[in-house]
Amino acid sequence: ATPAATMVGTAIGASHGILFKGGDVLERVRDVDTVIFDKTGTLTKGEMTLTDVRVLRPETDGAGVDVVSGDDSVTDEELTEEFLLDVAAGAEAGSEHPIAEAVVEGARERGIDVSDPDALQNVAGKGIRARTGRGDVLVGKPDLLREYDVDPSAAEETMAELEREGKTAMLVALDDRLLGVLAVADEVKPESSMAVSALRERGLTVMLVTGDNERTARAVADQVGIDPDNVRAGVLPEDKASVVEEIQSDGHRAMMVGDGVNDAPALAAAFVGTALGSGTDVAIEAADVTLMRDDPADVLRAINVSEGTLAKIK
Ligand code: ADP
Ligand code: MG
Repeated sequence: ATPAATMVGTAIGASHGILFKGGDVLERVRDVDTVIFDKTGTLTKGEMTLTDVRVLRPETDGAGVDVVSGDDSVTDEELTEEFLLDVAAGAEAGSEHPIAEAVVEGARERGIDVSDPDALQNVAGKGIRARTGRGDVLVGKPDLLREYDVDPSAAEETMAELEREGKTAMLVALDDRLLGVLAVADEVKPESSMAVSALRERGLTVMLVTGDNERTARAVADQVGIDPDNVRAGVLPEDKASVVEEIQSDGHRAMMVGDGVNDAPALAAAFVGTALGSGTDVAIEAADVTLMRDDPADVLRAINVSEGTLAKIK
């Protein structure tokens, strides 16, 4: 492109809060044929709230539930929703994940005095493990519990029910015993379904990639109009880039759109990486384009600006 056309395109983009990292990016965007959206914080608001607290009460004789090793076992009466939430929040207080913030906030709203864990370990894409005053706590996916030899199967039905509602369900275990399930929910951005349908009308393939589970991912895809075949769920942070590479190895030119630290490698791997302005610095640095208004509809606007620049070159 001529320097003049590039300057005009860059300026038009900037007037919509669309920042292109250089003239070559501006020219490349129009060749995108597949748009891959991250879910949380990109198509959804990324503001989670705690919606459900479900205790899984085992069959006992009422004598006590052997939750905590030693003399501190928890009686049936003590195993309440409040106890479950207290245990989970006391672990999540050490994490900065949006899920963690929702759990801690939900506990405080219910009058629970939340304290920080003594130690915390993030298990990427699966949850957390914490040492707390009450014992060793796991909060996260069934896979996380299996990793620590806790059987998650008693929670299967409860989880499925919550996930079909589009919620993210998490298991809570204390000292190797499954206590119950929490769920958090996040609203789809009002602009997301228009953005998806406009891209599809232009002939682009629209996909969803997320670390969240299949049922929740499909519920969100359904709300925004993404084909179930184009959903990649349960993708671990380190595997998001592989999903992009796999799609591109079929000859596609993909734009990855995301906001999180876990999206950065995928943003770098994509033909065009697009970060949201509210996203983490790591994502913005890895990206070629930044959408300052956080509006998924600006993806099509970016493509239009790129095409307009080409028209001026011709
Ligand atoms: P996404 O790709 O949707 O941004 P992440 O890769 O951050 O999601 O997390 C994927 C999944 O791992 C979450 O949906 C949740 O089930 C689990 N998870 C991650 N962090 C936590 C946490 N702090 N507490 C509980 N579960 C978590
Ligand atoms: Mg995200």
